[in-house]
Amino acid sequence: MTGRRKLIAGNWKMNGLKGQLGEVSAIAALAGPRSEIDVALFLPATLIAAAAPLASTVLIGAQDCHQAEAGAFTGNLSAAMLAEAGAGCTLVGHSERRQYQHESNADVAAKAAQAHKHGLSVVLCVGETLDTREQGDEIAHGFVSDQLVASLPEGADAGWLTIAYEPVWAIGTGKVASPAQVAAMHAALRATLVKALGAATGNAMRILYGGSVSGDNAADLLHTDNVDGALVGGASLTAEKFAPIIAAA
Ligand code: PEP
Repeated sequence: MTGRRKLIAGNWKMNGLKGQLGEVSAIAALAGPRSEIDVALFLPATLIAAAAPLASTVLIGAQDCHQAEAGAFTGNLSAAMLAEAGAGCTLVGHSERRQYQHESNADVAAKAAQAHKHGLSVVLCVGETLDTREQGDEIAHGFVSDQLVASLPEGADAGWLTIAYEPVWAIGTGKVASPAQVAAMHAALRATLVKALGAATGNAMRILYGGSVSGDNAADLLHTDNVDGALVGGASLTAEKFAPIIAAA
């Protein structure tokens, strides 16, 4: 027993119109009122206000927030706006934002701190590219550990911060990391958290795996040491595909 409650989180990315809110209700029904695990859905911001009242058993979240309180940042959303819309959590540092929006580790740390300031819990994503992975396991472990330390916000605490290890080469590709690769990386990240934050916080903080998780591979991944849940993209878009992943946890 680790004492860490499993979290199964879905990331809808830029998918979902009001017509898909029925899937949110169906996922909330799956999660159940007395669930022994946590379930979260990171939705497009446009759906948060409509989804929050439908999903008392699921934490509704955003996919990013800006690091500033307010101001001249056209097109961005602040943590206060997302909290007011009904979000209880947010992703930060997803590899698609690191890649396409050029977000740095310092940006990610600032976003996480800003989200926490407004009462949102945070799932902070880290992960290596295929190029880094092909340089060998030790290089990959070192790269992701350094990325994690540089992305940790001030006052990081397991009560509100969860880490998601998502190898970039496994996201949306159907190529899932093997349980052995995941176990080795999560052990390295656990050691990194303990060193950076102390034993109590470092051992209490959840580390999720993400990257092509599906009903077929969820049980193996979720029963791997130091895997405290999953961050799921494509397979979280419908209750039918998400159900076996929730069940596996
Ligand atoms: C993700 O978006 O974080 C993700 C892991 O996507 P997928 O499950 O589709 O690989």
